[in-house]
Amino acid sequence: MFKKSGRTLLRQPPQSSAQRPSQPILKSPREIQIMREAGRIVARVHASLKEAILPGVSTWELDQIALEVMQKYDASSAFIGYRGFPAHICASINDELVHGIPSKDRILKRGDIISIDIGAHYRGFIGDSAWTYGVGEISEKATELLRVTEDSLYAGIKQSKVGNRIVDISRAVQQHVEGQNLHVVREYTGHGVGRQMHEAPQVLNYVAGDADGNYVLPVGLVIAIEPMVQRGTWQTRTLKDNWTVVSKDGSLTAHFEHTVAITNNGPEILTIA
Ligand code: MG
Ligand code: MG
Repeated sequence: MFKKSGRTLLRQPPQSSAQRPSQPILKSPREIQIMREAGRIVARVHASLKEAILPGVSTWELDQIALEVMQKYDASSAFIGYRGFPAHICASINDELVHGIPSKDRILKRGDIISIDIGAHYRGFIGDSAWTYGVGEISEKATELLRVTEDSLYAGIKQSKVGNRIVDISRAVQQHVEGQNLHVVREYTGHGVGRQMHEAPQVLNYVAGDADGNYVLPVGLVIAIEPMVQRGTWQTRTLKDNWTVVSKDGSLTAHFEHTVAITNNGPEILTIA
């Protein structure tokens, strides 16, 4: 692993293929239909949270809303209990990149940005999607960070077609972000997703010459593409709670993720309403 310290949690750090024995698990049309439903539930949770994200709201309240929506659709959180994670969603504010733990003490303020990562387990499969939201009006720099990160996700999705390689996705994300003088995090990656939250292949957000980068995308592959972008540096560190990952220099961070199926008709985003 390239990661120097900290625990490896909801997103995996880059791994060599020798450390990752599993092969990509392709999904049948029937399985993708279930994943479509799982993805739709994730999108509904995001829609509810988007409305609830206001100044004065705690991240614990957001966690409770997420739980209620998942339960309403007979889904459960794929995060709670995962390697001991203590909440239903990840809620990461400003310089916090990923794995923020919802808390009654974390109250949103006007001008904050908050990244919400949601994994829903439904009929044996997982949908995984993250989004960064502004709390009320946000700064121009924050707005730009969100726009560039979201656009880089779609640049990656556009490359998610049969016959392309994983590295085509990685390159598209990296070029889009670095072309805007922002920084792609390297310590956490996208991934295959299905019955397990983290399946092969890993999907880097930068070109690294890794073995998985050479993997040619087949019909039936489902991957979570998830650019993580920071204003000041690509480097991160983990806080003393052993979960919350922040930018090393305290600069703002953003995280956009969709679960995407590779089909004969091109990429299909599963985590939409
Ligand atoms: Mg996620
Ligand atoms: Mg993910």
